[in-house]
Amino acid sequence: MSSKEYIEVILENAEKVHPEMSEYRQALEEFLPTIEPYIDEHPELKEHNVLGLIAEPERIIKFRIPWQDDEGNWRVNMGIRVQFNSAIGPYKGGLRFDPSVTESVVRFLGFEQIFKNGLTGLPIGGGKGGANFDPKGKSDGEIMRFCQSFMTEMQRYLGPDLDVPAGDIGVHAREIGYLYGQYKRINHNNPGVITGKPVTLNGICGRAEATGHGAAYFVANYLQDHDDSFEGKRVVISGTGAVGSRALEKVTELGGKVVAISDITGYLTTEAGVDIDKILTMVDDSSYSLKEFAQECDHGEFYEGESVWDAALNYDIAMPCATQNEINKTRAKNMVDCGISLIAEGANMPVDIEGIATFKEAGVIHLPGKAVNAGGVAVSALEMAQNAQRVKWSYEQTDQELQAIMQEIYEKCRDTSQHYLGKEDFIAGANIAGFDTVSKAMYAQGLA
Ligand code: GLU
Repeated sequence: MSSKEYIEVILENAEKVHPEMSEYRQALEEFLPTIEPYIDEHPELKEHNVLGLIAEPERIIKFRIPWQDDEGNWRVNMGIRVQFNSAIGPYKGGLRFDPSVTESVVRFLGFEQIFKNGLTGLPIGGGKGGANFDPKGKSDGEIMRFCQSFMTEMQRYLGPDLDVPAGDIGVHAREIGYLYGQYKRINHNNPGVITGKPVTLNGICGRAEATGHGAAYFVANYLQDHDDSFEGKRVVISGTGAVGSRALEKVTELGGKVVAISDITGYLTTEAGVDIDKILTMVDDSSYSLKEFAQECDHGEFYEGESVWDAALNYDIAMPCATQNEINKTRAKNMVDCGISLIAEGANMPVDIEGIATFKEAGVIHLPGKAVNAGGVAVSALEMAQNAQRVKWSYEQTDQELQAIMQEIYEKCRDTSQHYLGKEDFIAGANIAGFDTVSKAMYAQGLA
């Protein structure tokens, strides 16, 4: 059987077994064909069905989360943790609180996380979790009670050498603090059990900035390697959460001009460049929207209810930092017409399969999420190390490490794609390099 046929068998099987899990199957469909040249060089992977093994999570935990709202009503949500792959370390990956959370979404995120974590070069396996809970419009008390109920169930499956969650969409330092507080109440002080903690709770300085700053560093590495820089570049960023707002901050610091940003309420354009301080206040206050921001501050033009990727703007670099599948073929075509030469994914899987093909045909450089946004989880691994050593780093120390890690990941993706494809293809490079690390560790353990 050729490598191509083997990959098709795995994809057909996923379709048979998980017909309803579209996001999970999309992640497999994006990933597996890109590692074909690697399987050609390692035919034993077919014989031992390593793709079949790696495509299924080691374990999935699903549970109900009962909680009381401010009116005293009892509400119930679905909680889930996918412990996907522990070949290179404890399961590591964020928790997402969003109404869109399903097993399919968490499986896709967990699958991506395995290889992202592999790329960091740090000893962390892949996992992901969350709940179909909408934090928007909830009071602080409701958020706290929800987090406590979530952790009451989740705590029995966690540990610094077992599974270490962190944040993702809808889960930031406040939620991590409440989650950790409940863990400690039931167990004992053990800060290495969760990352992204507030700095006052043994969190690492610089974790909140790491994903967005890391994304900007990754792009800067690419530009520098091609005798270019952010200087004078027009950039558009979607998402004003933890990733988008911090990407905006670092891109601006490195000389880029962010001419539009967006969130779920619409997008905002400004020739003067976006006011960073105002946007940063939105990260900690999940109920504050770009629409309210535009009403309160006279700052550019706001287009309500529209996607920035549909807009007829003029820019060089797109950084989707919102969520999965925000860019389809039509939007990708529009972005090509807007003149982009590079797309760097701050979000996980923000471009669908047709969108990826559209960028490829147009010759747009495509830097994938599992490399570009790996700075967040990498600094989480540093937080684990710091907690284990019982030390505290400065922001500058973290930032230096982050820069070094992002450069290493960039070079790994570039060199791997040169080796296997004879050209620069960062999607294939990231997938193959991540897979190489994880599959070798699986072999070393007898594939169990
Ligand atoms: N949720 C983030 C990601 O997508 C961070 C995970 C972590 O820090 O464990 O990588």
